[in-house]
Amino acid sequence: MPVEENSNSLQLFDPQIAKAIEDEKRRQQDKLILIASENCVSNAVLQAQGSILTNKYAEGYPGQRYYGGCEYVDTIEELARIRATDLFGVDHANVQPHAGALANLAVYVAVLQTGDSVLGMDRAHGGHLTHGSPVNISGMYYNFYSYGVDPDSGYLDMEEVRRMAKKVSPRLIVAGASAYSREIDFSAFHDIAREVGAYLMVDMAHIAGLIAAGLHSNPAPFADFITSTTHKTLRGPRGGLILCRQQFARAIDKAVFPGIQGGPLMHIVAAKAVAFKEADTEEFRLYQEQVLKNSRALAKEMIEMGFELLTGGTDNHLILVDLRSKNISGQEAESLLDEVGITVNKNAVPFDEESALVTSGIRLGTPSVTSRGMKEKEMETIAQLINDTLESRQDPLAISKIKRTVREMCADHPLYQDIIS
Ligand SMILES: *Cc1c(COP(=O)(O)O)cnc(C)c1O
Repeated sequence: MPVEENSNSLQLFDPQIAKAIEDEKRRQQDKLILIASENCVSNAVLQAQGSILTNKYAEGYPGQRYYGGCEYVDTIEELARIRATDLFGVDHANVQPHAGALANLAVYVAVLQTGDSVLGMDRAHGGHLTHGSPVNISGMYYNFYSYGVDPDSGYLDMEEVRRMAKKVSPRLIVAGASAYSREIDFSAFHDIAREVGAYLMVDMAHIAGLIAAGLHSNPAPFADFITSTTHKTLRGPRGGLILCRQQFARAIDKAVFPGIQGGPLMHIVAAKAVAFKEADTEEFRLYQEQVLKNSRALAKEMIEMGFELLTGGTDNHLILVDLRSKNISGQEAESLLDEVGITVNKNAVPFDEESALVTSGIRLGTPSVTSRGMKEKEMETIAQLINDTLESRQDPLAISKIKRTVREMCADHPLYQDIIS
């Protein structure tokens, strides 16, 4: 079957899928996306990701492939690797992990034996599934212990981390979080790891874009391994990344392939290269600065509206709202807000008494709305809309007014030029 050269070929051949994609595009355009782990990528990233590179098998690494015809994909992967190492100031990069979860697994496979002790952040306090949750392979194959945040301040308590590390003598300490709004002290983690003879892995999945822009301290001088996603604040294609010192390069590369993956997704690797190039620009630095300004503006206005924030504020792109004083669960808030066009996710607060499906909090992040050009003024409006939605949940008239305002804000800030509101 010859490939259709028609740009409408998806629409013609598979109208059901084409329609669902259009509907999703419309949803992204018409809603205020405050999911802290989401973003919207550039057309350049989309173009690389949607390219014919998907046709190519390239098991192995540049110059050492198990397939012929790899001369051009070698160029692509080399560029991606060099750009990643330059961007973060490290010796070695592996750009092949299909996802953040697999980047983490590859580090575990590279340095641990099954049953080894590992210390990571409690998922209920903001850690990630792949940091030892019993339902994840990390928790099934390795002996994870966890540290949490201080019950009063909500901040990571480094003395508690040290105490736990001394107690459990981990082979690896994992730093990094999915729901933590403060700067992480990588130097303190490094000191603790050295004291107990553990490796240090920093999972910067959420904050990689801030780090690339110099707006969060860089773990490179402190960590033995750095893992990341490329699609959160870094604003690249959906995928994973591992950075390490030269001494671990071979072990990491072997763990990714043939350890846990087969052929790399070369279209995604190309899109990662594009994203790393974008992240090395002044424009990107200004974008990340605005992400932070917006996050602070949102935090300030939420506090003024009477919401309680974990740690009382934020140093990064996200805020965590404790809804216990507002008499509404995270689950209820998430669904009410989605109804008016504000997409957030429910989130457990530390020491939460509700189940993981209900929760007592929500997590709000500014990367996506900032990519659409929204600034502090819009953040104030968003905080007010969130407050109004939760307060006026019984008032259909107020709710339809909020919906209209959300629609107008979205129309004023198009996601992509080819979407007309
Ligand atoms: C999102 C995230 C991951 C996993 O990324 P996936 O690409 O969804 O597998 C890993 N670690 C942290 C801290 C994350 O926030």
